[in-house]
Amino acid sequence: MMPVLFVGHGSPMNALGKNSITQGWRSMVASCDTPIAILCISAHWYTKGTRVLSSERPRTIHDFYGFPHELYAISYPAPGDVELAKRIGDLLGPSVTADDSWGLDHGTWSVLRHMYPKADIPVVQLSIDAHASAQVLYDQGVKLEALRKEGVLIVGSGNIVHNLALVDMDMDGGFPWAIEFDAYIHDNILADRHEGVIDYRQAGACAEDAFWTREHYDPLLVALGAAGRDGPVAIYNEVFFAGSVSMTSYRFG
Ligand code: ZN
Repeated sequence: MMPVLFVGHGSPMNALGKNSITQGWRSMVASCDTPIAILCISAHWYTKGTRVLSSERPRTIHDFYGFPHELYAISYPAPGDVELAKRIGDLLGPSVTADDSWGLDHGTWSVLRHMYPKADIPVVQLSIDAHASAQVLYDQGVKLEALRKEGVLIVGSGNIVHNLALVDMDMDGGFPWAIEFDAYIHDNILADRHEGVIDYRQAGACAEDAFWTREHYDPLLVALGAAGRDGPVAIYNEVFFAGSVSMTSYRFG
């Protein structure tokens, strides 16, 4: 049974070089069996309806602006997996559309190039339906759990606290509300209270600034659904970037 990961990916710059964050990512998979394929749910594929990447040779998408040239030169040439894309469609039902026009966006490759630098494991992405409720996304994860027994590593890639309008590049650590929200999620996950993660507004006032758009939070919901309850949980990278981005990452199972 493969684990499920939620990865706080932060800045695309993490794709370059090595730091304590990327070391945390490598630690998350160091003791995993090698997956037969990876299913990534990235914050950066946010669509009308749910799509699954059906490309045999996914292109590397550089979906960011104003970063150094060397970041745009990165390629992550992992193969796709058309059969897995079909299987995901079967598990999630007819509302899911196959899409071979997308590729691997930086929510996926900035992380995977540290976890699996050889890029030799097939990768499929599942988009996030921008109109889906938190409960619907969690329920999608529940349906995907079966893939874990088939050797597929499910990775949600986003950030639990992600408010770029409030970043402070001089800030060391997180804003108090950011720390409070991250801790609220942490406590609910460790207590297997997934309802508190789905209905995150229960966190109170700190939830109001944790994010103003949900795309970086949503991958956690799918991952948590696939993780199920009662399994071991390991926490990595429990730090903040620029005050308002939480890098906290989880391994379930
Ligand atoms: Zn991002």
